[in-house]
Amino acid sequence: MTAHILYILERFFEESAAFSVPIGGTSQLGETLQRGLEKFGGKLQLNAHVDEILIEDNRAVGVRLKNGNVVKARKAVVSNATPFDTVKLMPQKEGESKKLTKWRDDLGTLPRHGAISHLFLGVDATGLDLSHLEDPAHLIVQDWNRSMQDSQNLCSFFIPSLLDKSVCPEGKHVIHVYSSGGEPYEPWEKLTPGSEEYEEYKKERVEILFQAVEKAIPDIRDRLEFTIIGSPLAHEAFLRRDRGTYGMAWAAGSSAPQAGILGSVLPFPFPNLKTPVDGLLRCGDSCFPGIGTPSAAASGAIAANTMTHVDNHLKLLEEASKKDPIYKFLDPGFMGQVYRPLVQGFTPSAELRTERFATGAGVAPVDYTQKNAERDAAASS
Ligand SMILES: Cc1cc2nc3c(=O)[nH]c(=O)nc-3n(C[C@H](O)[C@H](O)[C@H](O)COP(=O)(O)OP(=O)(O)OC[C@H]3O[C@@H](n4cnc5c(N)ncnc54)[C@H](O)[C@@H]3O)c2cc1C
Repeated sequence: MTAHILYILERFFEESAAFSVPIGGTSQLGETLQRGLEKFGGKLQLNAHVDEILIEDNRAVGVRLKNGNVVKARKAVVSNATPFDTVKLMPQKEGESKKLTKWRDDLGTLPRHGAISHLFLGVDATGLDLSHLEDPAHLIVQDWNRSMQDSQNLCSFFIPSLLDKSVCPEGKHVIHVYSSGGEPYEPWEKLTPGSEEYEEYKKERVEILFQAVEKAIPDIRDRLEFTIIGSPLAHEAFLRRDRGTYGMAWAAGSSAPQAGILGSVLPFPFPNLKTPVDGLLRCGDSCFPGIGTPSAAASGAIAANTMTHVDNHLKLLEEASKKDPIYKFLDPGFMGQVYRPLVQGFTPSAELRTERFATGAGVAPVDYTQKNAERDAAASS
């Protein structure tokens, strides 16, 4: 559990608190983002494992995929992989700058949380009365005198089918149970997936997760129709997070290395998205503002904003503010006019400007409303 969560825990119990769950399941988040990306001319390529970030003259010029294909960067390369995984994509080269070597060493050795164990269950809900559950999500603490980082102490479970019946067949429930991000990775790395020892250890470590759900559904084991145990090795392989880590762990109140200029005046615990390589940015939950889907999304927005002209930010905010009265607060209004002349000389960020870039979308503000109208008109003609 991160400090952020402890800070907001009380708010979960406020009168107006609500769970935000994507109708149709988590895949809807990805599909919605994909629609947005494609609407603005982007292309999503799946099964495209990046093997190396290509750097020429201290500038990120593209990526080489595992299948050997090279994808050239038009503006910049943005890595959403954890810092531990990003540095592995940039093997040390002869003659590289000391700054880059230090950055790689700093990022690659940042303290990190442990891994996570998962239990994915599909259960028969015949005669199952869950009306005593006020919430679809629960945190179970075995012993308040033990650490919340202890994966055998803090467990969470979530029953999305309580909120959205479309995620499983009628008469069933789906449940995701998971440990804290403190599951030690070391015992797992010695095991071979599929071996008897591995299967036994999986069962041993998730026993506590079963016990957590039993607090709400005592006969859960009799109702099981489908079970998958996700070990830290699976977490590592499927989410491609080094050692299955939940994420970077930096104590609040001090700044992590590479936290940028603000890090010297404010206790910003997470590293900056900038790198010592021109045209290479990072985003994701190991960048400021931190762990969690809202924070990871914010870091993506910061990366995008770093690559474009401030007029585009302001235009986007203005457009969003008009979409619905609840977004009215986004209108930059008068403050936007004050802010614009102060920062326009810095946008996009200087190290991202190149001759190629000078004619691209980043330098001159782009009228996306106009561009979209033209595209829609062309499509309907
Ligand atoms: C069990 C669990 C419960 C959580 N609950 C919550 C919650 O309730 N609320 C909340 O806000 N947050 C929660 N979090 C945290 C949240 O999920 C993460 O902080 C967030 O998803 C991180 O997003 P990201 O984009 O930074 O990283 P990721 O989601 O890890 O995305 C990184 C992507 O990069 C890809 N990648 C890595 N290496 C390569 C490569 N070489 N080539 C190509 N692609 C690569 C990976 O495949 C992955 O798709 C939870 C996390 C877990 C594990």
